[in-house]
Amino acid sequence: MNHGLYIHIPFCARKCPYCGFYSVTDRTCLDAYLKSLLTEIKSLEGNSFDTVYTGGGAPSLLGAELPVLLEKIVSLTGFCGAEFTVEVNPESVTKELMSDLSGLPVSRISVGAQSADDSVLRLLERIHTSERIFAAYDIIRSNTGCDINLDLMYDIPSVDAQTVKRSVKKFIALGPEHISAYSYSPDTGYLTDKASDDSYQTEMVTGILEDAGYMRYEVSNFSIPGHESIHNMKYWRMQPYYGVGAGAHSMVVREGRRVRYSHLPDIETYIADPLEKADVEMYDCKTAALESVVFGLRCVEGVDLLEITEKFGAITNELTDKINVLAGEGLLKCAGNRIKASKKGFLLLDSVMSYLW
Ligand code: SF4
Repeated sequence: MNHGLYIHIPFCARKCPYCGFYSVTDRTCLDAYLKSLLTEIKSLEGNSFDTVYTGGGAPSLLGAELPVLLEKIVSLTGFCGAEFTVEVNPESVTKELMSDLSGLPVSRISVGAQSADDSVLRLLERIHTSERIFAAYDIIRSNTGCDINLDLMYDIPSVDAQTVKRSVKKFIALGPEHISAYSYSPDTGYLTDKASDDSYQTEMVTGILEDAGYMRYEVSNFSIPGHESIHNMKYWRMQPYYGVGAGAHSMVVREGRRVRYSHLPDIETYIADPLEKADVEMYDCKTAALESVVFGLRCVEGVDLLEITEKFGAITNELTDKINVLAGEGLLKCAGNRIKASKKGFLLLDSVMSYLW
């Protein structure tokens, strides 16, 4: 069975105050960390990977060390799969780095752009400017044959819809194959005022992207048809993946049962023992079926209840009743065995998911 492989590079030039991902700015233990990553990847020998996703943190911060690391990963895993993504931040994209990556099986570059408006980037305390995004984009496009994703954030408190609209249009004008459009999350406690027109911004961003030919295939992800992220779809379709590195999560199948585990979000602990696992949970069939429905609803295609039943046994009456309630309220659409979120359901997806859970 093919797996996805997620590699966490938890280093950033500066910590953005809104960011909930595990990362640090001190790079004194970088070499030891990379060594531990390779030890963990070596321990996965015997598995085959059809997707690799290198995320962070900011992998591009590694500069010339990044292609060296990725080359070792390709050789350890024998990767010759469908999709290999590398996350970059605009400020650390250079011609040299992109030329080096183009000699590897890297097929997607995901840029943590967020906004094309300098006042928004300052509000988010990002290091880069909009000019740097456009320069980075040109460098990637002219030095690699990779698909490009641009991350875009909206619903940021105090940022009005017109500002967001201009950013979306500027990103579209660049011509990326993929745009991930995320609603701002105040989870870290930074900028906690509610955005004034939040559901409006979701509809506006979705409408502009769709009119420009970007197909929404997941609640926050849009692509030119045929350029969806295969790796990210594994998370929502409950396909197995290994996550290596501090704070990374894995979901694999053991003896027919779904197992989740993670590494503690702590670099020192990870370096001390990269094979140590925390929070190991083995799911029973009932929970695995529920999880498949809840996560699967993030995808526009929805889920096939018959397929889930064949894998995990009949879904519970409680879940069936809840699906019927949501369908009755116009939040889910049912067609044969398939259920999917309606337009209204997508706007209220967090509530739909927590009700089912
Ligand atoms: S650069 Fe990215 S990963 Fe690092 S703190 Fe900022 S948002 Fe988080």
